[in-house]
Amino acid sequence: MFNALMVEKDADGKTSAAIQQIDIARLPAGDVIVDIEYSTVNYKDGLCIGPGGGLVRNYPHIPGIDFAGTVASSDDPRYSPGDKVVLTGWRVGEAHWGGYSQKARVKADWLVPLPKGIDTRHAMAVGTAGFTAMLAVMALEDHGIKDGPVLVTGAAGGVGSVATAILAQLGHEVAAVTGRPETADYLTSLGATQIVAREEINETTKRPLEAETWGGCVDAVGSAMLARVLGQMKYGASVAAVGLAGGADLPATVIPFLLRGVNLLGIDSVMQPYENRLRAWERIAKDLPMEKLEAMIVPAVLSDLPALGRDILKGQIKGRAVVDVNG
Ligand code: NDP
Repeated sequence: MFNALMVEKDADGKTSAAIQQIDIARLPAGDVIVDIEYSTVNYKDGLCIGPGGGLVRNYPHIPGIDFAGTVASSDDPRYSPGDKVVLTGWRVGEAHWGGYSQKARVKADWLVPLPKGIDTRHAMAVGTAGFTAMLAVMALEDHGIKDGPVLVTGAAGGVGSVATAILAQLGHEVAAVTGRPETADYLTSLGATQIVAREEINETTKRPLEAETWGGCVDAVGSAMLARVLGQMKYGASVAAVGLAGGADLPATVIPFLLRGVNLLGIDSVMQPYENRLRAWERIAKDLPMEKLEAMIVPAVLSDLPALGRDILKGQIKGRAVVDVNG
């Protein structure tokens, strides 16, 4: 038996989450059983734990879209008991029981061996949000980061914090957009060289093009923020669009694409092939200083989850909430 946060749906469609003792035989099919050590709280998790169940495809369900831990048993030759592994994506925590649990059974194809230089706790300080931030930085690099500051929106959140730290470590000037002025010291400690108030970018303008300012952008917010940023990019620069914390619409014009050759790069962390995931985790272990990751961690245990799920949907978590599932 093991502990997990189980979300159930009653006959009226109302969902509720509670810690339960689960028999290992109930785990869904897979090749590898993992003793989970840490999971995290991502925006999607907030939706899945919250009322209505968000993205959950089947009930009862264990949410948690990512985890890191140790292989307990494996039917796949790529993994042996004792191996340290990390999982993000593949609809785990939405369609397949996920990380808010002391055990998981998953397909071997969904796992990545943890690279040297990063332990399971730090891997989850990165988690899906940080992994996505790394994918965004790699996409910007592939298209060429131009001179000038790289803008990070939603900077005090999970994706934004990790993107800020990676870009700064790589030697870029980072302009961090935040709606929480009290996080300025935190963002500066991660390496941001400029703090931009959210209202400054969110102010509407009728001008489709403004001064060429940003050499690249990792955008976790979308909507009016993304639309405004497109018109402020340097010629030929790229925006890696990661999230929609500010809304799913995009009230933009085509002018920045036509007259400034701006690239809008969509980033999806869920269906990344194995080679890309491995490459991103190796870059994370190399390019993300562990002391900066440490500064991002909000420590949590399973019983903290419903409250943390509500917090992340309100954009109130600073950095990364790391859940010790055995704590
Ligand atoms: P967080 O809640 O940790 O961070 C989001 C940040 O966005 C907040 O901290 C806040 O930053 C800012 N923000 C929130 N609401 C608004 C608003 N209304 N207007 C402007 N800014 C706002 O979430 P994550 O960083 O984990 O995720 C960010 C987004 O990325 C989410 O939409 C998530 O679903 C998406 N995502 C996408 C992935 C993919 O594969 N494409 C993978 C992981 C996440 P501040 O307080 O600094 O302003």
